[in-house]
Amino acid sequence: MSLSFEHDVLIIGSGAAGLTVALNLPSDLRVAVLSKTELKSGSTLWAQGGIAAVLDDDDSTESHLQDTLVAGAGLCDKDSVRFTVEHGREAIEWLISQGVQFDTDESEESTQKYHLTKEGGHSHRRIVHAADATGRAVSGSLADRAREKANIEIFEDRVGIDLITHSKLFLPGNRCVGAYVLNKKTSHVELFRAKFVVLATGGASKVYLYTSNPDVATGDGIAMAWRAGCRMGNMEFNQFHPTCLYHPQAKSFLITEAVRGEGGKLLLPNGKRFMGQFDEREELAPRDVVARAIDHEMKRLGADCLYLDISHKDKDFILGHFPTVHQRCLSYGIDITKEPIPVVPAAHYTCGGVVTDSAGRTDLNSLYAVGETAFTGLHGANRMASNSLLECLVFGKSCAEDIASRIAHTPEPPPAPSWDESQVTDSDEDVVISHNWDELRRFMWDYVGIVRTNKRLQRAKHRVDLLHQEIRDYYSNYKVSNDLLELRNLVTVADLIICSAIQRKESRGLHYTLDYPHPLKTPENTILTPVNFPAEPW
Ligand SMILES: Cc1cc2nc3c(=O)[nH]c(=O)nc-3n(C[C@H](O)[C@H](O)[C@H](O)COP(=O)(O)OP(=O)(O)OC[C@H]3O[C@@H](n4cnc5c(N)ncnc54)[C@H](O)[C@@H]3O)c2cc1C
Repeated sequence: MSLSFEHDVLIIGSGAAGLTVALNLPSDLRVAVLSKTELKSGSTLWAQGGIAAVLDDDDSTESHLQDTLVAGAGLCDKDSVRFTVEHGREAIEWLISQGVQFDTDESEESTQKYHLTKEGGHSHRRIVHAADATGRAVSGSLADRAREKANIEIFEDRVGIDLITHSKLFLPGNRCVGAYVLNKKTSHVELFRAKFVVLATGGASKVYLYTSNPDVATGDGIAMAWRAGCRMGNMEFNQFHPTCLYHPQAKSFLITEAVRGEGGKLLLPNGKRFMGQFDEREELAPRDVVARAIDHEMKRLGADCLYLDISHKDKDFILGHFPTVHQRCLSYGIDITKEPIPVVPAAHYTCGGVVTDSAGRTDLNSLYAVGETAFTGLHGANRMASNSLLECLVFGKSCAEDIASRIAHTPEPPPAPSWDESQVTDSDEDVVISHNWDELRRFMWDYVGIVRTNKRLQRAKHRVDLLHQEIRDYYSNYKVSNDLLELRNLVTVADLIICSAIQRKESRGLHYTLDYPHPLKTPENTILTPVNFPAEPW
């Protein structure tokens, strides 16, 4: 039987962004939080390095701002960066108040309580962390607090399918009033109605064959917002993390950037260092530079992987700073205290997304987007390490405050019909889904990866158009499943990435094309506008 629910606020996604919104909303609001898997899920759970914030007396928000602008390669929105970095300390204090235990610094030289690491692009030590499993600490505490709150109802194993809008209901004054949601346990589609909907579904790096992201990162919120008429910003900028563990059994294990921050050296198969030939900052150069250098060397040598070596450091230091990396590598027979780690680059972070303002408001009235799903202008053409969790916290809070300020003047959501399954049947050819999943992720890796060309992008566009048509037909005829929904979203996201990449006639930040190797004088965002753009004020 299909169920129907009504809340004040529907939050789709339970990572750092979704839970920050939920926990900052007034306690008298009825809040639903959906997760595609468990409450503790998403990239948040896997974040290792930490969260950037100005906590040290020698550091300054001006310095954090400048570092972010430099990493963003001329495309950051300065106001958005300032807004984020100025709220950094407050965000960390809030996390601590929610029970997150960050590593402390007991040394005499330390001017403040917490141990801070330094990562690529940061000119100061400003990364607060919980050993090398910061995401687990954040996710765990926020999930525990959410479970304690009587006004927050948690729905696990729920997959948001599509948003419900006034325009779909043929009502005047377009706004978002809910979503259809697949219950993975019952296989029924449920109706969630709400005064406000928040998309916090994370990024879309699963669109690439190799990724550091968990399986849920299929860009669902981005695709849902696009279908509902919202603009997308800078989708061509996908960050590739330079160092994922290369091992046949390690699906997507990332070797945190902090390993390089703490002195890890990148090596060729013959043991020689090479980063100096690409950038004077060597291993501490920004991610895109390092990923491109590794990609270049791997292609030049025909190597399957390169190496990252921290074994010259004291064993206790390594075990103290990188217990998770050490343990995980050891489970594959690699002892990082004694030998280098085999690494490859992998898709890691979606810099672009749903266009929002500083409160997370999208183009569609009553629809917000927060966290990796959103395009706030913070990251520009390249995200600086550890700014992303900070973005989830800062914009999550401002989103909650904006909702709180509007709720009294917002009408109840109108009635909406149940999901109609009368015209579809059970699929008799699931191989279409698995084949298209593989094909899509493979050609995105080969043609729209770290180094692009016009020809490769045109080839990818041709492929994605065919897949789009095939999946649209399949979707219209068969009952929905998690795999089908994710594939449908991935094809949409792939198309958005390809179209954005084709529009950018220059190389900048994470977008590197052999046909236009230099940046243009005047940087501009790539904004894609859907045909059903709502163009109505909030
Ligand atoms: C391995 C790794 C390490 C990282 N390390 C760092 C770091 O050290 N510092 C840093 O700042 N950033 C780091 N990042 C990036 C950072 O973790 C993410 O950008 C951030 O956690 C995103 O949070 P989010 O809440 O937007 O999304 P996520 O944490 O990805 O959460 C998405 C949520 O949405 C749910 N969801 C998705 N689709 C649907 C749907 N259709 N219906 C219902 N629910 C849905 C998922 O189940 C999940 O609950 C790292 C990322 C990875 C992958």
